[in-house]
Amino acid sequence: MKILVVNCGSSSLKYQLFDMTNEDVLAKGLVERIGLNGALLTHQPAEKEKHVITTDIPNHSVAIRLVLEALTNASHGVIKSMDEIVAVGHRGVHGGEAFSDSVIITPEVIKAIEACSEMAPLHNPPNILGINACAAIMPKTPQAVVFDTAFHQTVPKYAFMYGLPYEAYEKHGIRRYGFHGTSHKYVSQRAAALLGKKPNEVKIITCHLGNGSSIAAVQNGKCVDTSMGFTPLEGLMMGTRCGDIDPAILPYLMKKENMSPDDIDQYINKKSGVLGISGVSSDFRDIEKAAEAGNERAQLALDMFAYKVRKYVGSYAAAMNGVDAIVFTAGLGENSTSMRADITAGLEYLGTKLDPERNNVRGQEREISVPGSRVKLFIIPTNEELVIARDTKDLCNA
Ligand code: AMP
Repeated sequence: MKILVVNCGSSSLKYQLFDMTNEDVLAKGLVERIGLNGALLTHQPAEKEKHVITTDIPNHSVAIRLVLEALTNASHGVIKSMDEIVAVGHRGVHGGEAFSDSVIITPEVIKAIEACSEMAPLHNPPNILGINACAAIMPKTPQAVVFDTAFHQTVPKYAFMYGLPYEAYEKHGIRRYGFHGTSHKYVSQRAAALLGKKPNEVKIITCHLGNGSSIAAVQNGKCVDTSMGFTPLEGLMMGTRCGDIDPAILPYLMKKENMSPDDIDQYINKKSGVLGISGVSSDFRDIEKAAEAGNERAQLALDMFAYKVRKYVGSYAAAMNGVDAIVFTAGLGENSTSMRADITAGLEYLGTKLDPERNNVRGQEREISVPGSRVKLFIIPTNEELVIARDTKDLCNA
């Protein structure tokens, strides 16, 4: 059973074609600069040379058509015809309260995704473009959508509500939704497997640390709290996002700096975070290098980030009345030996200790706590595409 996984951004489209017999990736690739000058498709078949196509790609329909041509091409393709693709699984970002699980796409589902677009203006509209493009080219192929927010729909009401007038929730849907759910789901299930337990027997704290970062508390296989909120801005300080701040800062700054709502939105989403603190970069690799060279603000950005992660870990251990494992995933979590060391220095009270030798690794699934630690530390490379492919397969089989 072959399943195509599609992840559409406003000007990009990532894809992976899975053979679900062994969950092998047959090919993957990326279309960049859709609708812009210099558009290109980079196609990587599993056992063949990478193939790059530069051509005009005015919209997502053309992008999907190019992807299907690349997949079925006689020299760099991996299937004979697109009829071999049994289903398409889409990454959906914001499913609001309407979706607590993945679903097969119907006209009603598209309407519900559209209804959530106001809360995810950068993400939901391109998701819909991708879905419509596939539906037009492959009208008989079932399509499913797997939402970033769905895994967090089990968070209890006392944890997802904000201390605002109740009408803000009723009238405007203002509540915590959480994001990166597909990643938290995948790594929490892997962590349970590494512990030799079923997901419903363990308490896991999952740290998805990348350009965007979030933490989740997963108890008995269900998310009970997560750090991102109404939007992906809340929680940890990130590459360019401020994370948790005193909300009174916003009107104060708007008045002082004569900022419009759009200005302040840019300020807290694009100019803040480790970029804003360090003044160096939003990329942790650059910041680590600058800190090593003695840049104090770069060091401060790293210290602040590690401290905030440690505080969330502590609060989620409290939320679950304990923890069995803490997982590091995504670009920074999987790759930065020093950041994992900084975060875990000071978590010994929980019953865990980092093993520096085991921690000296990049992007490999493994335990990094000292043997016999009561609470285990794991690196688990995330695999959101695989979750999307699995959910799509399950929905088709059902
Ligand atoms: P992601 O959003 O999951 O793709 O993660 C991207 C971020 O991971 C980048 O901005 C980097 O800051 C960070 N990253 C990736 N590789 C490394 C590395 N080897 N050391 C430190 N940070 C890294």
